[in-house]
Amino acid sequence: MKYAFMALIPALLCLSCKNNGNSLRSDTENFNYNVEHFADLGILRYQVPDWDSLSVNQKQLIYCLNEAALYGRDIIYDQNNRYNLAIRRTLEAIYDNYRGDRDSKEFQDLTVYLKRVWFSNGIHHHYGEEKFLPAFSKGFFTEAVCSLDASLLPLRKGETIDAFFAEIIPVMFDPDLYAKKVNQDSRLDVIVASANNYYGEDVTQKEAENFYNALKSPSDTTPVSYGLNSRLVKKDGVLTEETYKIGGLYSEALTKIVYWLQQAKQFAETAQQNKVIDVLIEYYQTGDLHTFDQYAIEWVKDTESRVDFVNGFTESYGDALGIKASWESIVNFKDPRAEKLSKMLGENAQWFEDHSPVDSIFKKKQVKGITFKTIEVSILGGDCYPATPIGINLPNSNWIRKDFGSKSVTISNITEAYDKAAAGNGFLDEFVCCDYEKELMKHFGAQTDNLHTDLHECLGHASGQLLPGVDQDALKVYGSTIEETRADLFGLYYIPDAKMLEYGFLNDSNAYKAQYYKYMMNGLMTQLSRIELGKDIEEAHMRNRALIAYWVLEHGQADNVVEIRKENGKSYVFINDYGKLRTLFGQLLAEIQRIKSTGDFRAAQKLVETYAVKVNPELHKEIKERYDQLNIPPYRGFVNPVYELVKDKKGNVIDVKVSYKEGYAEQMMRYSKEYSTLPSYND
Ligand code: ZN
Repeated sequence: MKYAFMALIPALLCLSCKNNGNSLRSDTENFNYNVEHFADLGILRYQVPDWDSLSVNQKQLIYCLNEAALYGRDIIYDQNNRYNLAIRRTLEAIYDNYRGDRDSKEFQDLTVYLKRVWFSNGIHHHYGEEKFLPAFSKGFFTEAVCSLDASLLPLRKGETIDAFFAEIIPVMFDPDLYAKKVNQDSRLDVIVASANNYYGEDVTQKEAENFYNALKSPSDTTPVSYGLNSRLVKKDGVLTEETYKIGGLYSEALTKIVYWLQQAKQFAETAQQNKVIDVLIEYYQTGDLHTFDQYAIEWVKDTESRVDFVNGFTESYGDALGIKASWESIVNFKDPRAEKLSKMLGENAQWFEDHSPVDSIFKKKQVKGITFKTIEVSILGGDCYPATPIGINLPNSNWIRKDFGSKSVTISNITEAYDKAAAGNGFLDEFVCCDYEKELMKHFGAQTDNLHTDLHECLGHASGQLLPGVDQDALKVYGSTIEETRADLFGLYYIPDAKMLEYGFLNDSNAYKAQYYKYMMNGLMTQLSRIELGKDIEEAHMRNRALIAYWVLEHGQADNVVEIRKENGKSYVFINDYGKLRTLFGQLLAEIQRIKSTGDFRAAQKLVETYAVKVNPELHKEIKERYDQLNIPPYRGFVNPVYELVKDKKGNVIDVKVSYKEGYAEQMMRYSKEYSTLPSYND
């Protein structure tokens, strides 16, 4: 499983309880996170802030695993649709060689279309699944193709250019052909109606279901993931699997991947990691799903290595039947912050519990913080590139999860990039009035956001206890809002604590104010940008933020702690007393914990219904209008860093350098040249 694509959700507004991130690095101030923006897509850049905390050996290991990640790129194109590679290569040939007017609207439209194809690994929208259509004309396309040397085109053997056009043009331009990559409409044959390439063109849903049901045995308690790594086709009328393996389908790409996995082995950190790589290689060589399960088990067991990776046919979201897996890769290493956090938790979890403003009868006598794993990615590949998840939880096999556990991580440098990119898109200028807070948020926004999330996760949810006899579910529909409110308040109450400076999570005693301001601004105003006009607040995290913000606004009124005031016709949040704001957070925390511990349903209902559901329609409309004119793209993806071996005079590798200069088209064209492995047609 992967969680939460940041689609549709501006990062600055969205730190759900699953998000986590990284501390501020002093060298990130001038890093440009925003690369470019076209159609409904924003391209961002991420940093690998702790790269230099790795040993040269670890860096070389990552280098090899990165190469293995990039060599699988063509696979996902072919899995998404059988024509994707041919279309990508045709467009790239035009992009590289077109001698006509490159400033013309038609050429520009072709460039945007190509960029969208790169983003989606094919001709269908990565999120909406629908085919997007070119804005340029068929006439322009044929003219541009005809102006190229035929050797540059992905023609089939002996294929004429007319036959090529007859095949490719409808795939690109006809809205009804291959209209949706994955079609889940239960009234249709979901296999026939889906444009992906996991099944032969003449295979029906019924046939596929029967084929795989026949393989399953109800008495098998450790079943393999039948069908995971193959295309199901008909040969002479008989259903058969074309397995993804060396010597089978996608052999050319898998051969390269295995080569780089073999290279990686010499740098393995532990015997267990070495074993993981060995079993994965064996799986790619045989395509045997029992070997895949063995690999998954060994992978789960490898908890010691700092470097880790996913490389394989993993997630089945791309198949309407959820059987076939798309190829993806992520290479990562443990974030050093994770260790700092567990140290602080180990030494202080009880102290935080004992010193919270909650009534002592609701406190845990022995609190154990929850350890939280964060990683930094070094490369995104296959189905994880350029659009990427912010967290991964693998393996997917249920019995392996039950018997051997799973690894669940959040990707700190990706969430950090989302957050920092938002600072550069005009959002702060539009919604923050005072320069003081604007500066605080620029410097400490990401740092305190991530710290708040850590405290929320590791201490907030772990704190407090129910009184004996109180039903866990006593708060019913209000339960999750109250629980999130509790965890958020615990974090808000402790973020100004001196321990945050002492352990080096923050480096300025005013830094916490960035989180206070952002939290209040979000809860009172800016999260409304994500709600349709006329609708109430529904989602538990959004409700909990509104609850806290509006309760504090009301209860601080007498002392004018917080206010919403108009300046030049626009509403802004003003915080007039940060100290009192903390006291109010503490008061509300005590009350929320009482509600939770005693199961006071009526009080929970009253708080949520009073502060967290209804929105002020006038403010809502204003916020939406101001947000919309910022023109922030709803979907985002990333370019990867570039890694380069540094050698001494004798040719020995002495370091691996990371750089962040490569542009989006530049990177895609380079990948297409250096990592292109598969034929244009794999049928
Ligand atoms: Zn939570």
